[in-house]
Amino acid sequence: MIRTMSSIAMLTALSLPAISQQHQATQEQIDRITRDAILIDTHDDVTSLTVEGYDIATPNAHGQTDLARMKGFLGAEFFAVYVGAEYVNGNHAANRALQMIDTVRTDVVAAHPNDFVFATTADDIVRAHKEHKIAALMGIEGGHAIEDSLRLLRDYYALGVRYMTLTHFNTNNWADSQGDVDDPKVTHHNGLTPFGKDVVREMNRLGMMVDVSHTADKTFWDALATSSAPIIASHSGCRAVSNYTRNMTDEMIKALADKGGVMQINFGCDFLSQRYYDAAKPAEAEIREKYMAAMKIEDPAAKSAAIEKLRAEFNAKVPPATLADVVAQIDHAVKIGGIDHVGIGTDFDGVGCVPPDLDSYNKFPALTKALLEKGYSADDIKKIYGGNLLRVMHAVEQRASELKSMPALHSDIAKK
Ligand SMILES: [Zn+2]
Repeated sequence: MIRTMSSIAMLTALSLPAISQQHQATQEQIDRITRDAILIDTHDDVTSLTVEGYDIATPNAHGQTDLARMKGFLGAEFFAVYVGAEYVNGNHAANRALQMIDTVRTDVVAAHPNDFVFATTADDIVRAHKEHKIAALMGIEGGHAIEDSLRLLRDYYALGVRYMTLTHFNTNNWADSQGDVDDPKVTHHNGLTPFGKDVVREMNRLGMMVDVSHTADKTFWDALATSSAPIIASHSGCRAVSNYTRNMTDEMIKALADKGGVMQINFGCDFLSQRYYDAAKPAEAEIREKYMAAMKIEDPAAKSAAIEKLRAEFNAKVPPATLADVVAQIDHAVKIGGIDHVGIGTDFDGVGCVPPDLDSYNKFPALTKALLEKGYSADDIKKIYGGNLLRVMHAVEQRASELKSMPALHSDIAKK
């Protein structure tokens, strides 16, 4: 008994100086922790700009992602192969997906070989970090990109895609989305159809991570029950902190964690902050007409100035979320799911508002500092920034190797 007490006393005595040391961490120590952590962002939409000709090595004035701000602290980027719902109608979803894959391979990696290295495995990411390069990976956003064919899913894997978000804001032919869950005009499936479950199984067989961001809650539960490997939410948040249905309930976060998965925290202001979420919609409605008028201005400089003015007007009415909101989201997710099941999925260049004090990768030391002050250790931060995602990638790769002898699935519903 006495022995136990004295060891507790000893532990306390040992840990107290360590914590106070963290409080006083120098900028150099904070930078080192951030750099050593292998920061992995599982969702960045700058590809929607590069596919239109934007060079990532030039400043991205209105966005968050450019080479100058990625260099230094970002270890790996999952570039979004984002396929908008509008491509379904013209039957151009696969065409768009292939163009988005090409912009990552050609306009980002091949055009900047000294800075980026194409990566498809967890080991590739670690190797790139050692070589001081940014690992470039791809995740498809919107399951409609496979045009209801597992053959296309396999093609995307062969081209290097390592996760797929089962839906975007639109329900597809095999999975319900959160985005139109209340729309009576949409044919819903009550989660995943039998083919949708085969999509998940084929992703397991290939070694592609199953992503449940954007899906309806029932689709999440079906995907979790069907997958034989851990799954991810590539850019989501905690609904208990901001009651946006794109975020996940505590029950979902816990179940995802219990199965070894990871939820990656979205930096969009409405995902982060209830205050912002409540205030943004009415304020948007107020300036909508002015915005539509600004969008019609033909002179590019005048148009851009008008939009900037409206942005300032909007921000004055609805102050953006802050770094403190990111910390609150991370902290809640850790409390519910555990330190091994939380990560980073910024949604940079994909959302209209991000915290000004955490609006690109060069500002991550500020997040590191805030997490240290909150009592997180350097090891905890390492897990959140990338360690957890690396573990899930390894598990997904391991599961695929176990399923290697299984034949490819052929249950396509595509009839073209
Ligand atoms: Zn998204």
